Amino acid sequence: MSGAVHPRRDRYAVIGNPVAHSLSPEIHARFARDCGQCLVYERLLAPLDGFEATVAAFREAGGRGLNVTVPFKREPAALADRPSERVRQAGAANTLGFDDDGIWADNTDGLGLVADLQGRLGITLSGARLVLLGAGGAARGVVGPLLAAGVERLVVVARRPDQAAELASAFGDPRLEAGGFDVLASLRADIAVNATSAGLSDASLPVPAGFWPCVRFAYDMVYGTRPTRFMQDALAGGCAEASDGLGMLVEQAAESFALWRGVRPATAEVFAAIRASIAGRG
Ligand code: NDP
Repeated sequence: MSGAVHPRRDRYAVIGNPVAHSLSPEIHARFARDCGQCLVYERLLAPLDGFEATVAAFREAGGRGLNVTVPFKREPAALADRPSERVRQAGAANTLGFDDDGIWADNTDGLGLVADLQGRLGITLSGARLVLLGAGGAARGVVGPLLAAGVERLVVVARRPDQAAELASAFGDPRLEAGGFDVLASLRADIAVNATSAGLSDASLPVPAGFWPCVRFAYDMVYGTRPTRFMQDALAGGCAEASDGLGMLVEQAAESFALWRGVRPATAEVFAAIRASIAGRG
């Protein structure tokens, strides 16, 4: 018997709006090469009112899985036939898979954030006082894993305080508090994590001047070719150290890849390669 083997390439994508900035295709291409997996991973721009239809069309065309990014992370919780416990608790998902039994959903954002903070950056979360800025889909996904990592106090701050309060009440943990940006004026925190999408438009957050000098570490989920606006504002305000969210992106991607393909890729070299690659574009 002769003839070339043409393995079927499983299709994956990141769905969002905007999505052009996403580095997920580059990360998953590197994971696939490193793990010897045959797949393609694309960007999928969905209309703001067309998440479900875009997912359905991708699935009908043979797609195997999706990562979900801004502003759609809250939508899969209702769409999935089999939401994980993490998704049920957070009401948000970043990973979808399609199989013969329907759609499953999971959330790897929190695992990614905790892995980056504790593993790569050497930040101790156990006993830390943490402020989470923003209460959208990404914020929802990281609350459970941050609590599980043993933070002493977790204050969720949003420009709509009712949104922050709703998030806090969904978890029902006494370490969780909620408020508007004004509460930062009298708050002492070890770590501040930016989970707002303000950075996508290079906007500053309304953080009171006295807040930053007491903060040891500022972490921005947004990433880019240079220090983000949030990192610049934190360091200029007196915060000791800051990082962008590229490490979280790589770590959450590795967890999604493992859910889809059954093998967890190594992340250190991929992180270094992507960092070097985007630095060259800056
Ligand atoms: P959502 O749209 O679900 O939520 C965005 C949140 O940011 C909302 O609370 C929104 O408030 C708030 N916000 C937006 N602009 C401002 C502003 N100017 N001032 C104050 N608050 C603001 O987005 P996601 O939660 O999905 O994503 C948030 C960010 O995190 C995105 O930039 C995304 O790229 C990034 N991210 C990075 C990851 C990584 O791996 N590095 C993983 C996940 C997310 P309101 O509802 O009032 O508009």
